[in-house]
Amino acid sequence: MIGDPWYQSASGTGATTHRVTAMSFDLKELTDHDHSEECPVCRAQNIVQSALLPAASAWEATDELPRFSVALQGAAELLGVMLEGGISREDIESALGQLLDDIELRTAEDKALGGPTMGSA
Ligand SMILES: [Zn+2]
Repeated sequence: MIGDPWYQSASGTGATTHRVTAMSFDLKELTDHDHSEECPVCRAQNIVQSALLPAASAWEATDELPRFSVALQGAAELLGVMLEGGISREDIESALGQLLDDIELRTAEDKALGGPTMGSA
C-alpha cells in the first residue's frame, strides 16, 4: 500500500536513507588484478580505454573545452557517485592513488619497451 510507511521504506522513497557502509565494499577487489582471464580489473580498464577515453576526448574537442577538462570532471563526478554511495573519501583517494601508481608504472614500462606512445594525436 502506498500510504504504508513500510512500503515507502522498502521502495527507498521514504525519509530514511540507507547508506552503503564502506565495510560492505572492498575497493581492493576493484584495484587488484587476480591474473585470471576474466579479471574484472582488466575488463574495466579495457572498457574505459576503448570507449570512455575516446568519448571524453571527442566531447572536449566538439565543445571546444580545454583538454582534459571532461576527463578530470568525469573522473571526479564518477568518484562522487561512490562518495554518495557511502564509500569514504579516504578509501577512494587511497584506491585512486594506487591506480595512478600502476598507470605511471605501466607508462614507464611502455616507454622502456618502445611501445605505443600516448597522446600523439
Ligand atoms: Zn587484470
